[in-house]
Amino acid sequence: MNVADSEIVASILEGSGFVVTEDIDTADLILINTCSIRDNAERRVFARLKELARLKKRNAGLTIGIIGCMAERLKEQLLEAEKLVDIVVGPDAYRELPNLVSEAEGGHKAINVLLSHEETYADIAPVRLDKNGVSSFIAIMRGCNNMCAYCVVPYVRGTERSRNPDTIIKEAEEALKNGYREVTLLGQNVNSYNWNGNLSEINFPKLLERVAAIDHRLRVRFATSHPKDISDELIYTIARNENICKHIHLPAQSGSNRILELMNRRYTREWYMERIKAIKTTIPDCAISTDMIAGFCTETEDDHKESLSLMEWAGYDFAYMFKYSERPDTKAARNYKDDIAEDVKARRLTEMITLQNRLSAASKKHDIGKTFLTLIEGNSKRSKEQFCGRTSQNKVVVFPAAQAKKGDYVSVLVEKSTSATLIGKIVG
Ligand code: SAH
Ligand code: SF4
Repeated sequence: MNVADSEIVASILEGSGFVVTEDIDTADLILINTCSIRDNAERRVFARLKELARLKKRNAGLTIGIIGCMAERLKEQLLEAEKLVDIVVGPDAYRELPNLVSEAEGGHKAINVLLSHEETYADIAPVRLDKNGVSSFIAIMRGCNNMCAYCVVPYVRGTERSRNPDTIIKEAEEALKNGYREVTLLGQNVNSYNWNGNLSEINFPKLLERVAAIDHRLRVRFATSHPKDISDELIYTIARNENICKHIHLPAQSGSNRILELMNRRYTREWYMERIKAIKTTIPDCAISTDMIAGFCTETEDDHKESLSLMEWAGYDFAYMFKYSERPDTKAARNYKDDIAEDVKARRLTEMITLQNRLSAASKKHDIGKTFLTLIEGNSKRSKEQFCGRTSQNKVVVFPAAQAKKGDYVSVLVEKSTSATLIGKIVG
């Protein structure tokens, strides 16, 4: 989401005559796009600000801004406590950036953190900042209405809004024209995407199918699906469209019903397992990944074991795992005590990671001997003689470079695997 936001910001500023530079020493304006999801994300931004003080000393004309979720959460505090910061702009106020930069250049501190019920930046064609030129991100909605007890997103990014589907299709067509071969549709809960136009209502499966219909050479991914909202219609839509990738990120967060209820996730372990069964029955080769939180308020050893057993049962292909980090003003911070000791959280997280490493390795081993249609993303980091690509299941494959180029699809037979990568050769 933050990459997509940075691309919108770059586009707005280019419209006012700014150009993006890769060389921080020559920059006149530095904007740090921030995340507030966990405490350590915020701490890293403060550390980065300290580093930038050095540049500011050398170049008095340098303007430094904080944009995104931290801007929303910490507002004036950032301008006052961090004297270094000239601009603070929340996620719904990026259109104001050119004016705010002028204000800051005039020596005034500039701030706009107003959240909106309508802003989707639908009309803004992003300036692609990625390096590979093959896969790009398209934000299809903003904000979130879910109020999971631990989560700061609804507070810093506001209420949920869906973007006009015609502008999404246009952006995907544009990406294809510019050589991109993969788009990832982004939202905090893509399954609640809904657009009521004059002629018809478009829900997420319909949108996904419209994007997939643009061109069979354009792969479509999406994130994130909330388990409570993932519908049969979506599962069938993925199954019947070759170019919708066979991978669903379905964050469970916990395997314990008691914790899921405290988290306000609004599904049970049983519901979640039934949804995975439905996916596996309809799309047998579908990869499934998750997010897990270790050490949420009141989590017992038994609750933790239920998380581990759910992970084992699901056999996730990959997972993002986090220690619970209390975020000020969330439902959990207001109502529950952050009562799991740091060393216990750390140990539970390590247990999850150890388990997931085994599951990830098993999932890759399972692919040995199979052939996958692979989109080439470029040379492998280690060698120019090797290509690096991705399967529909979102697994990275490395194979000897041949008569093909970045952005091409090739069939790759998997011969070996490491814990993180499949290794194979082009066939056919
Ligand atoms: N909208 C997505 C996730 C957004 S945040 C969803 O609902 O799945 C990405 C992940 O960060 C979450 O899935 C969760 O696992 C983690 N996360 C969010 N808040 C957190 C917190 N306070 N402490 C630890 N992890 C958190
Ligand atoms: Fe946060 Fe829950 Fe919304 Fe995801 S669905 S962004 S975890 S409130």
